[in-house]
Amino acid sequence: MFGGFKRGFILLLAGILLFFVFGNLFVIKSAVANIYGSIERNRLERITTGYLIKDTENFRIKFSSEDLETVDRVAGEAERQLALAADYFGYQPKDKITIIVYPNKEDLEKGLRLSSGGTTLGAYYAGTISIISPKKWGIEGQEAEKGLYLHELTHLIMDDMAGGNYPVWFTEGLALYQEYLATGFEWGKDYIFKEQPYTVRELTLQFNKLDQFLAYKQSFLIVKEIMERSSIEEVLALFQLLKKGQAFETAFARSLGYSLSELQQ
Ligand SMILES: [Zn+2]
Repeated sequence: MFGGFKRGFILLLAGILLFFVFGNLFVIKSAVANIYGSIERNRLERITTGYLIKDTENFRIKFSSEDLETVDRVAGEAERQLALAADYFGYQPKDKITIIVYPNKEDLEKGLRLSSGGTTLGAYYAGTISIISPKKWGIEGQEAEKGLYLHELTHLIMDDMAGGNYPVWFTEGLALYQEYLATGFEWGKDYIFKEQPYTVRELTLQFNKLDQFLAYKQSFLIVKEIMERSSIEEVLALFQLLKKGQAFETAFARSLGYSLSELQQ
């Protein structure tokens, strides 16, 4: 516990120092995000202290003894889907990625600080991928498996490549788009919008307050439009500008050559 706070304190000092050096709000925002991430990663390690560990080429998988027979399945799919994401983005994460397999819903919710009653199968949180045991998936999870890790790995890779400097709709839309490319799964496919439920501005400013089904579907459609209009090189150039701290709207127009407000007209 102390280690986390000590490290956090040093990061905070570094953040303040950088802020005075560069006078850049982005620098202090990412320093705060780093502190939070590091404290939360320590907490996740603590609450999974008794878990077993399986190391693969690119992953460190923490799992309970109840998942001894499912961990190879997790490892195989995670490696397979990482190869897809790494190929698409031309990026290989340099450190091993931690996956925590929680034996039940309650422990997953505790780890992710979720309120109870949700239907989350997995999430990217604090630099870590968390999933619920494949034993608890049911039909829905079996169907989602082929894109489950890819979705969370897209969040992780974007966080690495673009420094987390983008609105939620952009990362959720791109994660859903990756699932769509790899598996054909399309979020809310049978639900046809008569008109777009939210503006890009609403999605940007208050994503978590919106109807999540509609917000995810619209994010997917917007990102699909972006990816069909732009080359992957342009999108990677956007990531680079974001990583440097440029505002999303400005970086978007500079790298893709059109403005955000042209989308979803
Ligand atoms: Zn997501």
